[in-house]
Amino acid sequence: MTDAERQAALDAIGAEVAVCTRCRLHQTRTKAVPGEGTAATEVIFVGEGPGFNEDRQGRPFVGQAGALLTELLATVEWSRAEVFITNVVKCRPPENRDPEADEIAACAPYLTRQLEALDPALVVTLGRFSMARFSPGARIGQVHGTFRRADGASGAPNALTYAMYHPAAALHQGSLKATLFHDFEGVPAALTEARAMRAALPTPEAGPGGPTPGGLPETAADDVPGAAETIAESDPADQLGLF
Ligand code: URA
Ligand code: SF4
Repeated sequence: MTDAERQAALDAIGAEVAVCTRCRLHQTRTKAVPGEGTAATEVIFVGEGPGFNEDRQGRPFVGQAGALLTELLATVEWSRAEVFITNVVKCRPPENRDPEADEIAACAPYLTRQLEALDPALVVTLGRFSMARFSPGARIGQVHGTFRRADGASGAPNALTYAMYHPAAALHQGSLKATLFHDFEGVPAALTEARAMRAALPTPEAGPGGPTPGGLPETAADDVPGAAETIAESDPADQLGLF
């Protein structure tokens, strides 16, 4: 796909999301928030769902958590315009409650199609709802700051996924802010690994019967800056329910 074709696909998805009524969240939203950024990127950031400001503006990560995300991007000299930013659910859950399983399921095809259009090398997950889609069964306290192959069913079978705490969690629990910045240092190295993994994939011509994709073991982040320190199950961040 050319970048123009990718952009056209993203625009078409955005137009559908804007008028979507597939789940109850459409009843309370002001504006749906499909996501934004460039179709020409290798990196997608996936959050949980729109908050108050996002719902008002129809744009992702424009409130306080968004300011923190912009700051994090700047630490590696990236800008919002160079990546794509979206969420697991495209409409704001009332009072910023957690999205419910049926809402996540109803909205999932939009994110799948965005991933198929972008074919990203790296999916950075922000918070546990996003992580669950790309690394089913993982625990955020254990895998934050590490990458692994994204779950094939996510829509990004040829991507690595890098888990981060949700920026909003660091706004509520100051001690997580340093962790967030430390973890973010590992993002460029994860992208480098993702490029290498993709370069080793069989060409599309090889077809389904072709060689097994080369690549990384499930978890291989130990020597990456920002790689996981293993945090005990009692990690207070896991109990906050914010991410
Ligand atoms: N939190 C999210 O998860 N997504 C946004 O777009 C904003 C805040
Ligand atoms: Fe549609 Fe997703 Fe919004 Fe639900 S959250 S109404 S599925 S766009």
